[in-house]
Amino acid sequence: MAEFSFELNDDQKAVREWIHGFAADVMRPAAAEWDEREETPWPIIQEAAKIGLYSLDFYAQQYFDPTGLGIPMTMEELFWGDAGLALSIVGTGLAAVGVLANGTEEQIGTWIPQMYGDANDVKVAAFCSSEPDAGSDVSAMRTRAVYDEAKDEWVINGTKTWATNGGIASVHVVVAAVDPGLGSKGHASFIIPPDTPGLSQGQKFKKHGIRASHTAEVVLDNVRVPGSCLLGGKEKLDERLARARERATAGGERLKNAAMATFEASRPAVGAMAVGTARAAYEVALDYAKTRQQFGRPIIDNQGVAFQLADMRTRIDASRLLVWRASWMAVNGKPFDSAEGSMSKLFASETAKTVTAQAVQILGGNGFTREYPVERMHRDAAIYTIFEGTSEIQRLVIARTLAGVPIR
Ligand SMILES: Cc1cc2nc3c(=O)[nH]c(=O)nc-3n(C[C@H](O)[C@H](O)[C@H](O)COP(=O)(O)OP(=O)(O)OC[C@H]3O[C@@H](n4cnc5c(N)ncnc54)[C@H](O)[C@@H]3O)c2cc1C
Repeated sequence: MAEFSFELNDDQKAVREWIHGFAADVMRPAAAEWDEREETPWPIIQEAAKIGLYSLDFYAQQYFDPTGLGIPMTMEELFWGDAGLALSIVGTGLAAVGVLANGTEEQIGTWIPQMYGDANDVKVAAFCSSEPDAGSDVSAMRTRAVYDEAKDEWVINGTKTWATNGGIASVHVVVAAVDPGLGSKGHASFIIPPDTPGLSQGQKFKKHGIRASHTAEVVLDNVRVPGSCLLGGKEKLDERLARARERATAGGERLKNAAMATFEASRPAVGAMAVGTARAAYEVALDYAKTRQQFGRPIIDNQGVAFQLADMRTRIDASRLLVWRASWMAVNGKPFDSAEGSMSKLFASETAKTVTAQAVQILGGNGFTREYPVERMHRDAAIYTIFEGTSEIQRLVIARTLAGVPIR
């Protein structure tokens, strides 16, 4: 067993430096322009693909890093570069993880490479779960998948919303109800291959932050996919549904459900994104406070400013430690008995909001303008307390886990 250490190993340090170089040299200089354009930054994704940073191989290596720190380290550095550009680079990973978590080996081998394309022809993928009337309450999902046995095809109808890369993706992963009576236990995930008739992009949203990342509705109108596009396969689905029906008639659900365990393992990655944005804003504020002179001295000489910076740095470091703990637990198969994954996401995302607001304050009037990056970072930070489960939902999950009551 490895000795306990808070230090990254030499390989991890080298990878972190490499990502940091890309974030500093390619992402930072382009961030303001793509924020204004509100368009998918294909040239930046392509640059990342050229050096192997946007690729299945790179993410698989980080995902399977035995220390668990590969993904949080990657997220922190990329989101330090810029949140909107970074989400455009890592958004595909959300769909890829959906396939990795539920797909057969054949499905993983067939579809994940198509999600990324190659350096000369990059593609992105989308994960579509949220709906206009089913955001926090996933069990209210209306999108329906019905099996057509004669043709061995699934027919999918419904409207998805808020899908990152929705409509511009090559491969869409869509969650749909196959047995609406079972709530979230009656859901299944489907691959929608490129150019499938019936799938179209609805409204593209104009957003407050992470504006370089494409977010849109996805309309599914009699979309037909082969039986092989059901993630995990029909046999596994039928077994799972039978177990869920048995439990429903036996009264109530079990606390430890598989979806919850998956969320606990994936939420620290969002926490790490928030740490990246918070650290970026803190660094700008620290530099500014050391150089900006008022009343004949640098503003950091005022305790009112210096104490804010002390709080900012302390919260950022605490967030990273919570994220690293939860990531380590996930890779070592430790049970999230206190919802430690949700804790890390809750604390880090609230920290990013607070710290970026403090950075705006420390920069004074300059902080309020688009001449300085903290204005953008503050807008970007608002997403972390909303997507992948709002802060209220994280608190609900933590509280219910502590109380020992079922999480729906
Ligand atoms: C930029 C962006 C990208 C996204 N990307 C994706 C994506 O790729 N794929 C995808 O499927 N989804 C995506 N989402 C959707 C995101 O996960 C949802 O927005 C989120 O889950 C919240 O759902 P909602 O917006 O419907 O809010 P609602 O669920 O309507 O919540 C509204 C408010 O009520 C609160 N609330 C709700 N229920 C409770 C409760 N029981 N107790 C206390 N408070 C409660 C919430 O915390 C929130 O403050 C994205 C969203 C955004 C904004």
